[in-house]
Amino acid sequence: MEMKKIIVAIDGPASSGKSTTAKQLAKKLNCIYVDSGAMYRAVALYLLQNKIDFTEKKLLRKAMSEINIEIIPSKLKYENTIILNGEDVTKKIREPEITNYSSTIATNGLIRKRMVELQRKMAEIQSIVMDGRDIGTVVFPNADFKFFLIASIEERSKRRWLENQNKGLSSKTFDEIKEELAFRDKTDSTREISPLKKAVDAIEIDTTNLNIQQQVEKIYGIINEIFL
Ligand code: C5P
Repeated sequence: MEMKKIIVAIDGPASSGKSTTAKQLAKKLNCIYVDSGAMYRAVALYLLQNKIDFTEKKLLRKAMSEINIEIIPSKLKYENTIILNGEDVTKKIREPEITNYSSTIATNGLIRKRMVELQRKMAEIQSIVMDGRDIGTVVFPNADFKFFLIASIEERSKRRWLENQNKGLSSKTFDEIKEELAFRDKTDSTREISPLKKAVDAIEIDTTNLNIQQQVEKIYGIINEIFL
């Protein structure tokens, strides 16, 4: 059955379950998944690698004209491959240094403007599930569906800690992880431009006591009832 074009925005703080939910949802809806956070991470990586002070307007403008970010969604695995100026940086952008710095550079208006342009372009011709912080408020204010995922900081820290353990990245303690999440929460929700906040017409889902399957079923159920 041919489905009409659909745009689903999923926002929320770090480790609220956005990306895992969004990937599985995209699979169920047979559309692509785009991780908008990966784009900010790629910019952070570029600026760090090239030692560019993003608060220097001239330098940043030059850097932004030289950055080429391609985000390649795969319908096979629902993963995104991130190419920064021809190099596959999919793994590199997950390093802890980049994670924290991406939140800092994401406060910048010029960087955000460029990322939003790229994000909107991706949805011009195809159905999309995109996750981030400002997708429902700024990137796609007319999205067909907007979800805002939340979870307690304890639960989110636990998830991140377990994820690190599973990946063999066990160097950080639970408290360190919690501190980093609190830093990103604060930076993301208090910035002047496009802060992390629930769009007025977004459906809030508290995932604290839900597993991934339950989150996906809940969201898919809502879409199915109204749209499909
Ligand atoms: O989603 P992820 O945690 O990978 O995003 C990394 C950082 O990028 C976030 O902490 C946030 O500061 C920024 N971001 C953003 N807007 C988005 C997606 C991510 O500001 N739409």
